[in-house]
Amino acid sequence: MALIEVTNLKKSFDELEVLKRITFSIDKNDVIAVIGPSGSGKSTMLRSLIHLEEINGGSICVDGDYLVQDGQYPKQQEIKAITAKMGMVFQHFNLFPHLTVQQNLEMAPSLVKNESADDIARRCQDLLKKIGLADKANAFPANLSGGQKQRVAIARALMMNPQILLFDEPTSALDPELTGEVLTVMKDLAEEHMTMIVVTHEMGFAREVANKVLFMDGGQIIEANHPEEFFNNPQHERTKAFLKKNL
Ligand code: ADP
Ligand code: MG
Repeated sequence: MALIEVTNLKKSFDELEVLKRITFSIDKNDVIAVIGPSGSGKSTMLRSLIHLEEINGGSICVDGDYLVQDGQYPKQQEIKAITAKMGMVFQHFNLFPHLTVQQNLEMAPSLVKNESADDIARRCQDLLKKIGLADKANAFPANLSGGQKQRVAIARALMMNPQILLFDEPTSALDPELTGEVLTVMKDLAEEHMTMIVVTHEMGFAREVANKVLFMDGGQIIEANHPEEFFNNPQHERTKAFLKKNL
């Protein structure tokens, strides 16, 4: 069974049809790179998976449970239980500016209240060590570089033990010299078999780390393939044109 099954997903903002019957599935341990021109619906698709957008039709099934089935959403509590299986990392980090790094990481798990403060603190330390920021536990986001902020945002998402991590252009807001440290953390996660969906303009990452590439244009998935086939032998004219401009 697929971990995420998306069927005929439709989303409009007023008259603007942004996602046009999108269908795809994601297996456990998949690293999916989603690429495509600006405005093609990549963020809306990702946000729909975690219920930051409500879709207008179609189904999203996560780990056997429907987040939405034929456009119908279940009760709020059920929605929450399903979206809790996913973590999201945003382009602009979205850290709480008034909280320290450690407080940012501990916030969500401490609200769930099923784990002792000591256990949460221990996991926080472990994760900060893992992303190379053990010495920044008491720093505030404003005193971190963009690359450090994004690594903290990834660690914060991991604190909730998600089954799936969603990334929306995690390196697009960074100076070029800072993208590497974030991509390294993401690559490490992929090697640990974290299931990830990554919207990205980093073609090197898509080619080397992803096991599947989805190319979106005009609210549709135009082409989906293994990276090698996708980059070496693109089938669709729109894919070819996009790669020509972006490789
Ligand atoms: P991408 O991430 O591929 O750049 P988006 O999913 O952000 O694309 O946007 C797809 C289309 O939907 C764009 O035309 C964008 O202007 C529109 N859009 C996105 N969010 C909203 C919104 N909240 N209200 C109205 N239109 C939106
Ligand atoms: Mg976007």
